[in-house]
Amino acid sequence: MGMKENDYLCPKCKGHLNVGGSLVFATETHRKHKGLIMLNPKIGEYDYKHHPNFSLEKGESVDFHCPICHANLTAAKNKDYAMILMVVNEDNCDYELYFSKKAGNKSTYVVAKEEIEAFGEDAMDYEDLFYE
Ligand SMILES: [Zn+2]
Repeated sequence: MGMKENDYLCPKCKGHLNVGGSLVFATETHRKHKGLIMLNPKIGEYDYKHHPNFSLEKGESVDFHCPICHANLTAAKNKDYAMILMVVNEDNCDYELYFSKKAGNKSTYVVAKEEIEAFGEDAMDYEDLFYE
């Protein structure tokens, strides 16, 4: 026992996005539908929960917003990705966590300074991610 859960923070307001084992985001689709999404924060898990009246089409691009300060979480480095901060309490490290804004796209990147790790079957080379 004693394994501390990771924390996930909004990069703008530093508010906690993880609640009850999920990451909570306010989202808006390209069709201008708005809704809350709860993502599994585990790297490599891509399931999400949503209200039945709010659904995503596969491949649809979704804008993720902080539910606390409403900042748009689109990554400055690549507009196809959203970025939040991941705090690993075990080793007191902060990471940037990038995930695809496309529904159904399985790619996640974790960045700690110069080190980048890619996860997911749709993940491309990180050089394509940041230096297109
Ligand atoms: Zn925020």
